[in-house]
Amino acid sequence: MRKYALEIAIGFVPVLLVFLFVIGINVLPVLFLAVIGAAVFYTARGKGKLTAFSSGKNRSEVADSSFTFDQIGGQERAKQELVEALDFLVKRDQIAKLGIRPLKGILLAGPPGTGKTLLAKAAAQYTDSVYVAASGSEFVEMYVGVGAGRIRDLFKEARTKAKKAGKESAVIFIDEIEVIGGKRDGGQHREYDQTLNQLLTEMDGIHANESPRILLIAATNRKEMLDSALLRPGRFDRHIGVELPDKKGRLHILNIHASNKPMDDEVKMERIADQTYSFSGAQLESVMNEAAIYAMRVNDPVITEQHLIMAIDKVLLGETTDRETSIEERERVALHELGHAIMAELMRPGSVSQVALTPRGGTLGYVRHQPQQDQYLYTTPFLHSQIMIALGGAAAEEMFYGDRSTGSRGDFEQAMNIVKTLVESGLTSLGIVDSSMMTPQKWADISREILDELMAKTKNLLEEQRNVFQSSLQTLIKEESIDGESFRSMLKLYSAA
Ligand code: ATP
Repeated sequence: MRKYALEIAIGFVPVLLVFLFVIGINVLPVLFLAVIGAAVFYTARGKGKLTAFSSGKNRSEVADSSFTFDQIGGQERAKQELVEALDFLVKRDQIAKLGIRPLKGILLAGPPGTGKTLLAKAAAQYTDSVYVAASGSEFVEMYVGVGAGRIRDLFKEARTKAKKAGKESAVIFIDEIEVIGGKRDGGQHREYDQTLNQLLTEMDGIHANESPRILLIAATNRKEMLDSALLRPGRFDRHIGVELPDKKGRLHILNIHASNKPMDDEVKMERIADQTYSFSGAQLESVMNEAAIYAMRVNDPVITEQHLIMAIDKVLLGETTDRETSIEERERVALHELGHAIMAELMRPGSVSQVALTPRGGTLGYVRHQPQQDQYLYTTPFLHSQIMIALGGAAAEEMFYGDRSTGSRGDFEQAMNIVKTLVESGLTSLGIVDSSMMTPQKWADISREILDELMAKTKNLLEEQRNVFQSSLQTLIKEESIDGESFRSMLKLYSAA
């Protein structure tokens, strides 16, 4: 019945209009409104078609289908799991013989810029499918039913393209699936529910023996937000975690993005992989690109390690700015940064690699730390020392000026995040608690308890190093930066004095 709804409407509406006209009812206003309504609906729908089509068109061409798993750095486990899942599509006869239910959806979950889109493209190549991509936000419209219409168009487009290209399958990639696939708790817009329902209906309509076969790959940074109907068996029942790369992965990604660039022979990519702890693939790509731009700026024919280090700072903190600061401000910033640097050396000797007074992004100065080992477990002493390093700047300002400035805002944010980790891991005086049971007052009390105690400790430790501040301040203001080795020599010399 639904299938023929349009035909029935086309037949019925003119008859109704003629009837109303004959019995003397003026149908012109109704007709006028109906035309405007239809125009609005079809423009919106058409826009959907266009976006879905153009994104699909741009990305589903042969060039994109030639993107392979070898061009993706790291992510070995994700690649392996994905290939295993895709074999369901590739080994059709075996699957049919064993009566295995066809795989319909794969969910890639992980932080932004880790290569989820690349994995979907490589999946299309591996399965010799056409690739059609869309983003969850493309299905969001004010008008009820438009998003659902766009989902239908997307599936239709994938089937048409596969047929045209003579392929037996199509990969549909939907990025930001949480936009349309969020939990249906009644709180959100009805339009979202309809769009999600349509997606579920389309997925249910995928059959093993249909040609072309459709495989849906979706990506999200927020898997916990997804509706359980999407995740149940028969829908997105393969979940693959795509995490930030470890050192080996970072090295691989850096090498991939260096392969089309002239690199200085002296560059030790291992060191760059060390320095880029917790960077995503997208950030690593940006480091290589920014380094090439720095090389071009100074007419260097090759990219040196110095360019790469500058690029890391830029990706982390933003471009250097020409912000003019007063002498008083510079002195305060210098003392603030020395506070961080001294605490870092006291907590983790040998960890400072540079103290700088160069304005960058939103900051007026910064301390660069030596690369950390990839670490996944943190102890209470480690987390406390991290907080003390973060509080070192504000503590130093209090020591020398008796007050603090807005320069510590980011440090406090960092310290509060660590407090949150401590509470949620049961590492505070509250013991093991469910954070959902914590009232704002309880959060405030426990944060104050931890931060006051650690601030007092930090101040005591820094007070013992007053000499170091006084002796290194002028050097930092004059030179604008002190490297790790020189800073450690100063610390040794003056803390003994
Ligand atoms: P988002 O969640 O924000 O959509 P994503 O996980 O889909 O991000 P991609 O779009 O796949 O990330 O990656 C963005 C860019 O980062 C890629 O075009 C590529 O240049 C680089 N990149 C990310 N991960 C990798 C990787 N593992 N290997 C090589 N390059 C990578």
